Amino acid sequence: MSDKYRAIIGMEVHVELASKAKMFCRCDASHFQVEPNTHVCPVCMGLPGALPVPNEDGIKGVVKIGTALGCKINRVSKFDRKHYFYPDLPKGYQISQYDQPLCYSGEVVLASGKRVRIERVHLEEDTGKLVHREVDGKKVSLVDYNRSGVPLVEIVTKPDLESAQEAKEYLKLIHATVRYLGVSDADMEKGSMRLEANISVSKDGSLPPYKVEVKNVNSFRYIAAAIEYEIKRQIKLLERGETPKQETRGWSLEGRKTVSQRSKEEAKDYRYFPEPDIPPLNLSEDMIKDWSSEIGSTPMQMRDKLVKLGVRSDYVETVIYDKKTAVDVLELVEVAIKEGLEVNKVVGRVVNKGETGFDRGEVIRDVKEEEERSFADEGTVEEWIKQAISENEAAVADYRKGRETAVKFLMGQVMRLSKGEANPADLENKIKAKLDK
Ligand SMILES: [Zn+2]
Repeated sequence: MSDKYRAIIGMEVHVELASKAKMFCRCDASHFQVEPNTHVCPVCMGLPGALPVPNEDGIKGVVKIGTALGCKINRVSKFDRKHYFYPDLPKGYQISQYDQPLCYSGEVVLASGKRVRIERVHLEEDTGKLVHREVDGKKVSLVDYNRSGVPLVEIVTKPDLESAQEAKEYLKLIHATVRYLGVSDADMEKGSMRLEANISVSKDGSLPPYKVEVKNVNSFRYIAAAIEYEIKRQIKLLERGETPKQETRGWSLEGRKTVSQRSKEEAKDYRYFPEPDIPPLNLSEDMIKDWSSEIGSTPMQMRDKLVKLGVRSDYVETVIYDKKTAVDVLELVEVAIKEGLEVNKVVGRVVNKGETGFDRGEVIRDVKEEEERSFADEGTVEEWIKQAISENEAAVADYRKGRETAVKFLMGQVMRLSKGEANPADLENKIKAKLDK
């Protein structure tokens, strides 16, 4: 990007919760490779008179995600109706949260230390799915409502990101966080995690009067490519003195570019109002405490722990995204420290192998053997010490006069004679023992 411009990027991530039942009815929430329209009932089909009842599992999942992202939890929350017309939305509105989301004001910390503010984490229901097919020679669109009503979490940031690289790192951390928590498999190919970026470009650092939303991207690589493409496209327009249009765009895999889909809606277009069929949510302090106690470490906390124990940051970034690997490496580091081994030698061995699973005992044993192998045997070391002492009478005399630094000098001489094959760890004691005889 040219120095004149700064990209301003906010992310919206949708994560489908891995709950057994849908959010407002008791239908089975599984919908991937399931016979169409078999997991449906009057509630998730939006038939007249059907009443939604919230599923506690869904609320718990959102509160866990919010807590893991450092959010404040709204003890009093409510559901709202978000109106829009689309064939995969049977009711003509989606039950979502508007002005009282379950969680707000959190943050995600990138490896650089940059803080990305989380504006809100709220709960909504997923929509159905359109399938475009050819049946009897005719092109038709079919609707499958199995996904309709599945609990969906939306995680929204403030526009704090400034590059495709930062956006990608943020998304990887969100992905890892929900997987650490076990609340979603966040499988992008199955659609259980969907990515959206709001992108604008500023000349003077102030928030521009437009933003372009790139929607429904299903890989970290594509969202990064879409962001890079948008930044260039918008700068071109600005250079010509035009203001980019406020609109929703999609990522075209074939063209490797973003393409216009529709002009962007404002909140007022959705005519939000409180969902009259669901009473406000009141979460007790105990409930929130109970749920939070099940969270465990987050990827960000694992990063802090490993960095504090002296693990190189590039190694840390390689291991924290998978919970099992992160936990295994942390345990490995603790053992390495206890055994007096160099932490990065041990972790480097695991990272360079690129394997996710490893046997802790085996790694420790290998590193130890390697260290021992590279040192000469006791008898040879003894010879080097004798030689250093006989060749440096002045230093020996100094030592006898009480000058401790003379030992350091002799250590240096032994290391030189050994060409690095003497183990420096106990060399000082051995030399002293010889001199004190
Ligand atoms: Zn249902």
